Amino acid sequence: MEKEAAKRRVEQLHALINKYNYEYHTLDDPSVPDSEYDKLMKELISIEEEHPDLKTPDSPSQRVGGAVLDAFQKVQHKTPMLSLGNAFNEEDLRDFDRRVRQSVGDVEYNVELKIDGLAVSLRYENGVFVRGATRGDGTTGEDITENLKTIRNIPLKMKRSLSIEVRGEAYMPKRSFELLNEARLERGEEPFANPRNAAAGSLRQLDPKIAAKRNLDIFVYSIAELDEMGVETQSRGLDFLDELGFKTNHERKKCSTIEEVIEIVDELKTKRADLPYEIDGIVIKVDSLDQQEELGFTAKSPRWAIAYKFPAEEVVTKLLDIELSVGRTGVVTPTAILEPVKVAGTTVQRASLHNEDLIKEKDIRLYDKVVIKKAGDIIPEVVNVLVEQRTGEEKEFSMPDECPECGSELVRIEGEVALRCINPECPAQIREGLIHFVSRNAMNIEGLGERVITQLFREDLVKNVADLYKLTREQLINLERMGEKSTDNLLQSIEKSKENSLERLLFGLGIRFIGEKAAKTLAMHFETIDRLKTASKEELLEVDEIGEKMADAIVTYFEKEEMLKLLDELEQLGVNMVYTGPKQVKAEDSDSYFAGKTIVLTGKLSEMSRNDAKAEIEALGGKITGSVSKKTDLVIAGEAAGSKLAKAEELNIEVWDEARLIRELKK
Ligand code: NAD
Repeated sequence: MEKEAAKRRVEQLHALINKYNYEYHTLDDPSVPDSEYDKLMKELISIEEEHPDLKTPDSPSQRVGGAVLDAFQKVQHKTPMLSLGNAFNEEDLRDFDRRVRQSVGDVEYNVELKIDGLAVSLRYENGVFVRGATRGDGTTGEDITENLKTIRNIPLKMKRSLSIEVRGEAYMPKRSFELLNEARLERGEEPFANPRNAAAGSLRQLDPKIAAKRNLDIFVYSIAELDEMGVETQSRGLDFLDELGFKTNHERKKCSTIEEVIEIVDELKTKRADLPYEIDGIVIKVDSLDQQEELGFTAKSPRWAIAYKFPAEEVVTKLLDIELSVGRTGVVTPTAILEPVKVAGTTVQRASLHNEDLIKEKDIRLYDKVVIKKAGDIIPEVVNVLVEQRTGEEKEFSMPDECPECGSELVRIEGEVALRCINPECPAQIREGLIHFVSRNAMNIEGLGERVITQLFREDLVKNVADLYKLTREQLINLERMGEKSTDNLLQSIEKSKENSLERLLFGLGIRFIGEKAAKTLAMHFETIDRLKTASKEELLEVDEIGEKMADAIVTYFEKEEMLKLLDELEQLGVNMVYTGPKQVKAEDSDSYFAGKTIVLTGKLSEMSRNDAKAEIEALGGKITGSVSKKTDLVIAGEAAGSKLAKAEELNIEVWDEARLIRELKK
């Protein structure tokens, strides 16, 4: 990098890193993920290596931690509390191993968990705990003795009367963290971002009563004067701490090669989720104290240890574009196109932005630096924008007025945040509708995925779902990447789909509000499409679990001339229009009390699920409906039953509670 440019960048990096350090170490409230902080620090170090005169003593690359708050008494550490060098991959670990072996020859490593909490120092005089401090800037920390005394695993008196400084990581167990955040949300307070911030925030309180309520814990990992204890290795040092009555972490292991270390690191990547506390990496330490001494320290960290950091779950990348797609129901969804970036092990290039309101709320602009996270570890989402890293080239984004696919005007339906294209001829909607029709839970036509449908649609071979059943062998075989075999298989699965029971067709048609379950209920109840087509709204509402919105949607759907034509066409092409699934038992075939009775289930059942109750009653020849009317024979009222129960009482209909139902079912 050219000198002037390097100088300007170094200044920018100092300002950013100092800001992030302050937020993280002093306020316990970071605004960027660690991966972003680490990336900036790495960039700073590499510029400083290229231009050593830009490496000033006040550079954040030369300093540990953050400022010490005036509200606390200051504590001078006996020996500095340092940071750790970072490794992000196997190569970094091998480099570390090479450097170590070049300096001191053969080594053994002690591999420990890197607990994600707050570094603390515990001063003991003649075996008695006298003072506890934060790491602060490495040489001076904050006196948090009273807060630390609330942690039960810090002995107030250790088993020998030594005068030593013990170092460790105070942390908040995952469970305590969840409970704390639940309680905070209930009180309308901001939740903590992670257990580390929660632990740090709890210990840096002036009132120890707060810390006492937070269920903190500790793992200790060293003694400042370890070499004076007659101990020769780090691993022995940990056993010694156990003997003194401290709590050390027992997930530790000695390794004699870096390959062994890498294996453990890999194992811990998965084991991590099952631990009751958070770890943000693994610390690898040269075990022999003599060799540690020989290796020494840099300004900021020991040369005899390194912290392997797990792949980041939140990362920063650039938003390159916002793409719009039109779904089956006409909803226009914006998607962020990102500079490819690794998140939790996989490369991410797209993230959903959901809708226009979300873009406005988070003030997401084109070319912004954005924080990306995998929601539930699958679909990436944009968490927030790094406003402070804006350069001026960013552009505000607004949704178009017209459908990006067909050009017709977009509308916002009242009460919905989404923008919708309401043109029934919109090619995007038709294509998405076809994809839905053939999908696994609908008509389940194997071999007809998004790719083939898009081709068929583009080549004008398929314009609606009926066209799928007119496809010829010649047409299919000419498609890209279609061989003889896959063509035959596809024709076979198209043929097979004609025999599906009615509910698959109903779901596949994509009638608004009719999901898989409602489709099944309707198919079972009406049995044929002809009966469903002519059902009135009232008849539909009598079906259990079919509500107003669904009933309206069905009536509207079957009022449309083109839909009736389409269904006729499908029927002529041989598509089954009848329910062929397990039958409801007919009243005349059952001698049960329930046979032929019209029954309504309402309120919450606690012993059995509503679905099970329904299935059992139906199996005995009863009929379950959704609303109470004069035709109702019996109402089963669970807990908190409301208007249906009132109506039953008004109409003098017999009412049972759940216990009675269970008794009668058993008869
Ligand atoms: P560090 O936290 O990565 O490593 C040093 C610390 O590890 C020690 O102080 C110690 O407390 C802890 N540790 C846990 N288990 C240990 C063990 N078994 N043996 C030895 N030490 C153990 O380094 P750091 O300098 O304290 O802070 C840098 C870290 O803080 C980085 O992870 C960085 O990403 C993060 N940070 C984030 C922001 C932000 O804005 N997001 C800002 C500043 C720092």
